[in-house]
This record gives sequence, C-alpha cells and structure tokens, in this order.
Amino acid sequence: MFFLIHYAKIFYFKLKDLPLIGKILKLIAHKFSLNYIKITQEELNKVSPSFCKAKWLQSTLHLELGETHSCHHNPRHAIDLDKVSRDLNALHNTTQKIQARHEMINGMRPKDCDYCWKIEDHGSLSDRVFKSSEEWAGLDAKTLTSPESILNILPKYLEISFSSHCNLRCAYCDPLVSSSIRKEIEIHGPYPTSHDFQRIDPRDAVDAQKFAGYFWRWWPQLKSHLHTLRVTGGEPFLSSDFDHLLSVLSQDHLPHLNLSLNSNLMVSPARIENALKIIKNSFEEGRLKDFHLYPSIDTWGKHAEFLRWGLSIQKFSQNIELCLRLYPKLKMTFLITFQALSIFNYHQLLEYILDLRRRFPLAEIKVGASLLRHPDFLSLNLLPKSMGVKFLDIISFMKQHRLSSKYELGFSSFEIARFERIYTDFMSTPDRTTQVASDFKVFMKEFEKRKNIHFEDYFDLKIIDDLMLK
Ligand code: SF4
Repeated sequence: MFFLIHYAKIFYFKLKDLPLIGKILKLIAHKFSLNYIKITQEELNKVSPSFCKAKWLQSTLHLELGETHSCHHNPRHAIDLDKVSRDLNALHNTTQKIQARHEMINGMRPKDCDYCWKIEDHGSLSDRVFKSSEEWAGLDAKTLTSPESILNILPKYLEISFSSHCNLRCAYCDPLVSSSIRKEIEIHGPYPTSHDFQRIDPRDAVDAQKFAGYFWRWWPQLKSHLHTLRVTGGEPFLSSDFDHLLSVLSQDHLPHLNLSLNSNLMVSPARIENALKIIKNSFEEGRLKDFHLYPSIDTWGKHAEFLRWGLSIQKFSQNIELCLRLYPKLKMTFLITFQALSIFNYHQLLEYILDLRRRFPLAEIKVGASLLRHPDFLSLNLLPKSMGVKFLDIISFMKQHRLSSKYELGFSSFEIARFERIYTDFMSTPDRTTQVASDFKVFMKEFEKRKNIHFEDYFDLKIIDDLMLK
C-alpha cells in the first residue's frame, strides 16, 4: 500500500501543473492527502511511536555558525569539523543526530524534539507525521533503520545558510542570524529585559570559510541525491556563496532538484532580476525541477516596517511584482512569522495577497504563517484575550474569500485551518503575565531610543494603550 501511494505521489507531482488534468488531480489529491498522512503515521508507528523520518532525511546547515539541526523545531548544535575533514557526510550525520536516531528506533523520545511530543501528548498529529508524509521523505522505514543509514545518510531536504549577512534588524531576530543586529548589539548591548534579549552568545569563533569549503566539496555527491535545496540566511542575496550556487545552477543538469529561496527582498531589482533569469532558464531548459520563492513579511504597512526594521513596504511590493512579471508561473509562499503585533494589519496583508492572485493568475501564491515563540514578550502571550475577536475577524474574512468555484483565487481550506490553529493556540495560552508585560515595555522604550522613533508613529494610541496596559 505504501509503495502504491508513493508512486501515485510521484505521478501526481509530475502532472499537477497541467492545465485541466492538474486541476482534477489537485481535487482528488486533497481528498486523499489526509488518508496518506494516516497511512504514514501507521508506517512510522510500526517502527516506534517516536520514529520520525526528518531525523534522517532533513537537515539545516548554518555554515557561518558551524551548526546544524534536523528540523527547525530542534535547537542547533555544533558540527565536528575534525569528523567532517575525514567524512563530508558528517556535516549532516552528527553524533547528536545519530544518538537521536537510535533513541527513536528504540521508542524513546529525543529531548530536542519536545515540540512534537507536546503536540502528540495533546492527542494531535505533530510534524513528526506531517514531515514524514512529505514527498522528500519517501524512503521506506526499513531502509532508514538499517545500521548503515543510522550512521551515515545523505539528506533529501537540505536548508542551508551560507552567511548571517543581513540588511534588516527584525525586532524578534537573533544577533547570530543577522549581522545588522549583531552590529547594533555590539554598540548598545543586549536589551535590558529580564533575559537580556539579543545577548550575544559567547562562543568560540568558527571558521565559516572552512565550513563553506567543505560544503562545496560535498556538493558533487549531494546534488544528485537531493530532493530540495532551500537557501536561507541572513539574506541570501547578500552572500557570495549564493552567487556561486547560481553560477553552478546555470551550468548544471539537476532535473530532480527543487530549489527554494527565503528572502526579505530588500535588495536591488537588478540583483533579483539576474537571479530569477538564471533560475527560470534552468527550469525552462529542464535542468531544475522546480523553484519556490518564500518572501518574508509578518504583517502589512507601517506595522511591518516597524517589526522588520529596514523593510520598505513600497520596495518589497515592487520587488514582489517584479518577480511575478519575470516569472509568471512562480510558486511563492509568503513566509509569515506571526507575532503579537502582526494581528492589527494582517487583514491588509491578506488583501494584498488576494490582489496579487487576481493580477497574476498563473502564479501559485500562498500564505505560510507560523507562530513566533521567542521572545515571549513579542509572541501572542503579549495580547490580552479580549483581542481574540480580531483573530475571529481574520478567520471570517478568509472564509468569505474561501477557495471555491465562485472564488477560485481565494484561500484554501489548508490556509484557513492554519490560521484557525494560530487562534486556538492563542486562546489556549495562559493569560499575559506581568513579566511579559513589563519586558515588552522595557523592550519598546529601548527600541524607540535605539531607532530614534516613537511607537505612536507606527501604531494607533488605542493599540498602544491595550498593549501597555494603560
Ligand atoms: S520529531 Fe518533530 S521535532 Fe523531531 S525531527 Fe521530527 S519533526 Fe522535527
């Protein structure tokens, strides 16, 4: 049964973009996808109730930090450079991951995966099952549990950050991830909140060039095996290794490779145009299987410019539209880190997405919202529960514009369900604590000082009163 579904999926992914047959297939697939997830769960649980294919097949490499993790729910840990010098696969197969694989096969729950265990303990399906149901996780459990695969396996889905070079200073981000935040913290120190927010983690200096060198030595072996390569950062457009990747892609023949790119799009149109032309050529000549752009944005208007410091909504939307003009069939998912201050202008972001779908009907434009968890004073923990009504307004807006034969550019049931989960999560979190409220005030005061602005230039007084408990 599993193999049958696996091959049906391959068949589906080959045909889903065809005009008429693709539409019919998508309708059928939607019906069967939940079934497939249940079958995957049974397959995983036959090995053990904590077995997850992502631990083998998914990897994120932060070359600038010399760190890795299996999926974004796990904390990063160091890669052993000595081991890598003897075996390049050790960029992915760290001692920590190998230990976690053994634990999973033996029915134990690796601590790093707490995110999934909490969800499963509430009786829901976790990413352990969802990720293991993805196309890239198609290898069967028997292959993965062999002694050789536990110790040494190539990832199928690789997310890679070449550099932390970034032009933005998003309110919630980390000095290890954004070079601009790091510069600010080196001058002003961490925010004086209860946990010294954005404190620079003291660590041994990492030879990022060396890690990048090993990665490019690994690439010839990796590239023929990978299903998806997702480039993240920092801002990838500011990294010379991303340029190198583009030049490699302009010559290589990788018809099985799906390329994805996370970007804040705060770079020159010429830079974007150059990259998209190379990628589009590779795709049209059959040298690349697919391309997916993930522009990051957390809400709309001045609120977004406040949260993603350095963002200009005007430049962002011009660059979005440039991408869609250059690449009319582009797959684009807005990468939304949903946080407390996202809710007030979220409606406008959704309107903008609907408008894009109307103007660029050949493109596949989606909403991908996930919850910000840290710091808690910017997360949904900050909002009083009376603001639940704002979430309900968004849900009702999405439902009024639900994908249907009448409204074929509307929001899919998956997108609506994802936002409903954000609302459920918000309503089930404990009420805001005095610590969260006080950290938020301290953070805002310092943020205004460092950026030489006033909170009320960006947010209505009513919102500020509600948030500041005035
Ligand atoms: S069990 Fe969950 S947290 Fe752990 S690797 Fe799998 S998806 Fe990630």
